[in-house]
Parts: sequence; C-alpha cells; structure tokens
Amino acid sequence: MGSALRDMCGAELKYRFVFVSSRDCDLTDYAATLRYFNIVAPDAVIHLAAAVGGLFKNMRCKVDMFETNVRINMNVLRVCHELGVSKVVSCLSTCIFPDDKTKTEKINEAMLHAGPPHSSNDAYAYAKRMLEVQSRCYREQYGHNFVCVIPTNIYGPHDNFHLDDAHVIPALIHKCCLAKQQGVPLVVAGSGAPLRQFIYSRDLALLLIWTLEHYDATSSADGDGDAGILILSVDPADEISIRQVVQHIAEAVGFDNDIIYDTSQADGQFKKTADNSKFKRLYGSSRFTFTPIRHGLRETVQWFVQNYQDARK
Ligand code: GDP
Repeated sequence: MGSALRDMCGAELKYRFVFVSSRDCDLTDYAATLRYFNIVAPDAVIHLAAAVGGLFKNMRCKVDMFETNVRINMNVLRVCHELGVSKVVSCLSTCIFPDDKTKTEKINEAMLHAGPPHSSNDAYAYAKRMLEVQSRCYREQYGHNFVCVIPTNIYGPHDNFHLDDAHVIPALIHKCCLAKQQGVPLVVAGSGAPLRQFIYSRDLALLLIWTLEHYDATSSADGDGDAGILILSVDPADEISIRQVVQHIAEAVGFDNDIIYDTSQADGQFKKTADNSKFKRLYGSSRFTFTPIRHGLRETVQWFVQNYQDARK
C-alpha cells in the first residue's frame, strides 16, 4: 500500500512524504520507533505497517499476527501522541468484523466490535480491533484526530506474491503465471464460491490522501456510534466470486489450460459484504470512480511479469 501511495502521490509537491520501510525502523521496538519518529518529525502519519497475510498465513501464524501487530500499533500511536502528531490514519480490514454479522447482513462501521471474528483470522482481527480502541482512547482523552479506515481486499502492483502466504489475487497471479509457463492446470484453493469486494491499491492510495485531508472524527458529520471509523470500499454490487476473479486472472495472464478447484482447502468466510454508504455520504457529490477490476488486474499482472525478479514472492 505504501508503494501505491508513492506511485500516486509521491511526486506531489503539496506534501513532503517520508516512506518508512521495516529496514529503516523496527516498529515493534518502542525506543527505535521514538528515535526514528523524532528524526522525521511528521505532521501526520498514515499508519500502514502490519504483519499481514492471506487466509492460510493467518491460520498458521496466530502468535505473530497478534503480538507483532499489537506491538507495532502500541508504539506508533504512543510515539505519535508523545511527539504531538495531529493526525494519524490507521488501516484496519473487513476481515476483522464479527463473523455472524457477515453471514446475514452488510457490515458497517458501527458493527465492528459486536461479536467474535472468524476463527481463521481471530488473532489478526483482535489486534486490529485494539488499534481502533486505542485510536478512540486518544481521541477521547487527548482530542487527537486519530482515525481508522477499513479497506476491503486490496490488490495491485508491489504486493506480496508469495505462493502460500499471500492474499488470493497475488497468490493466484503467481500460480497462474507458473502454470502457464509449465503447461499444467491451475490449482485454486477452495471452492471458488466465496464473495469478496476488491479495491485497487492505487484507488485506495487516493482515498487515504482524501482521508488524511478531509476525514475528521471530531466533526459532528462523522455520526454517532461509529466515529473515527470509515469503510473504504467499492459498492456491494461490485462484489464478485473467487471463481470470477480466477477467470479474470486467467484472461489477463493469457492462460487457457484447465482450472481445478481444490475443495480440500479452506474457503474462509463466505462473504463480508461491506456497506460503503458512510464513505459515499462524506465523499459527497463528486463521487469517486473506482478502477474496474479487470483493468486493475491487467495492470497488476503486467507489473508482476515485468518485475518478476524483484517482486516479493
Ligand atoms: P480473506 O478475504 O481474508 O479470506 O483473504 P484471502 O485474500 O486470503 O482470500 C481467501 C479466499 O480466496 C478464500 O476463499 C480462499 O479459499 C480463496 N483462495 C483461492 N486460492 C487462493 C490462494 O492461492 N491463496 C489465498 N490466500 N486464497 C485463495
């Protein structure tokens, strides 16, 4: 996501961006975080750092998903408070919502804590939910404009394309390229039936800048019961099945061999349809145009093929 921000906004002279990678600073270490933030002295922070992975990594690495994320979030928000940073936009995920709610209704900001998350990613989900609690505490005790956005499944160039640990789109792009090269069928994990809303990382980059500039959790326009939380998503009508995603990827890669669905592997949540009406209300009449998924996938496949040597995989 940080690389997408750099691609979309890094050249804008309006702000001086500092992009921090894990090589620059170990955010799980409080002293290192304080030292680094002291040097950079930011006015505002877009907090995207996290231990993340797809369904299968979340199931396998629960301690890391919980502990690393809690430690990073504790340090980043605490240090921002100590240095008087006026705005922090932190990133959550739709996979952290109550599992029961996702089955029966569209999820919205007010439902975030109303029940346990899905067991496959509960470690990650509880750590991220605490980031929302912590941001709210800073707003209430100190009046800081610390807010959280909740994007749906993100994809795009610079993603992690690891075959086992990545999210569905980058994992399948990588698998599909290999299957094409080797002349073998593409094996997809699960039934292909689950539904997801995907957001292109370059669209989300623009929306993060908009959030930084315009989303104010202390304003009355933000609403009751869901203050400081904002879902950033395409419309519910744009939700598509994993099977459709696979077809689009195969088309973008130029893969025309067989596709096998391995139903012995997990499907995860069936759906987690996000209601984006709060975003639409606040964004207003200018209306944001999301990149159609086939277009975004074409660009992502092209990026992966061109950057195969250096891509994270
Ligand atoms: P989720 O939205 O949090 O569940 O995260 P993912 O991006 O990992 O998407 C998981 C969905 O994609 C599940 O329904 C999986 O069964 C399906 N899927 C199919 N193939 C793959 C794959 O190679 N990797 C991943 N992560 N998921 C896959």
